[in-house]
Amino acid sequence: MADFKKSVRENAAGEFFVDSTCIDCDTCRQLAPSVFEEAGATSYVRVQPRTPGEERAALQALLACPTGSIGTLHPNPSPEARADFPLPVAEDVFYCGFNSPRSYGGNSYFVVQPGGNWLIDSPRYLPFLVRQFEKAGGIRYIFLTHRDDVAEAAKYAERFKSRRIIHEEDKGSQPDAEILIRGLEAVEIEPDFKVIPTPGHTRGHCVLLYKNKFLFTGDHLWWRRKRRQLGASQNVAWYSWRRQTESMEKLSRVGFEWVLPGHGQRVNLPAVEMRRELEQLVGRMKASLEAVGE
Ligand code: SF4
Repeated sequence: MADFKKSVRENAAGEFFVDSTCIDCDTCRQLAPSVFEEAGATSYVRVQPRTPGEERAALQALLACPTGSIGTLHPNPSPEARADFPLPVAEDVFYCGFNSPRSYGGNSYFVVQPGGNWLIDSPRYLPFLVRQFEKAGGIRYIFLTHRDDVAEAAKYAERFKSRRIIHEEDKGSQPDAEILIRGLEAVEIEPDFKVIPTPGHTRGHCVLLYKNKFLFTGDHLWWRRKRRQLGASQNVAWYSWRRQTESMEKLSRVGFEWVLPGHGQRVNLPAVEMRRELEQLVGRMKASLEAVGE
């Protein structure tokens, strides 16, 4: 629970505040960008919510915050905002919320399917979310983009008898996963669900393409809000920036309209524009390799 005594000094005076336990994961800025802003190493309340919509978004951010770093001066009506989760993204795709500190506040997603639902990476394991997943028909598959964002996937798998999918190169984080992806070739798990290995951030990083439209990208690719362009980070390419560049080039030949990342902003663009953005990103990544003579 957030502690007002630790409130960061940049907070605008008023009901909502961020405290110094914030890990700067960006979740609140994605959910309520008109309220929360970045202050270097933490978020802060730039403007107090001015409308019921902004207040609801700020409450959703409070609930999604992995470290409980957002607080209100008075008891808040979070049960109402809580019922918003999983939050609709588009069609049958939802954002789970309740980001886990075990994945450094990574986003997770839920796809509702008549043949069995999918969880993409893992939120915190909470009775409320378990009930929500139960009401939606449970979880058949848990796709894990890479070793860092597995959070509490094992608990969800045990509860719902789900089949976890991870690349064998990252299986150390989930040694008893039911389905292992091997090599570099894309694998269709079910019609409309294709796993594409994208080594770079980690050796076994993969993305999931759904309906040739939604791409769940883990820590491989995201949207940069301020620069308004697709991005990836050499600083967190734990395995290889060169391999990540090659993986990105491979993705530029795949059509999709949504980027749904673990960390960073999601984005929806027409397929043609998405491809152009991706080709530009590949160009910037190649230039960064040439700059260091790789
Ligand atoms: S969601 Fe929480 S931890 Fe993440 S940036 Fe916002 S206040 Fe900080």
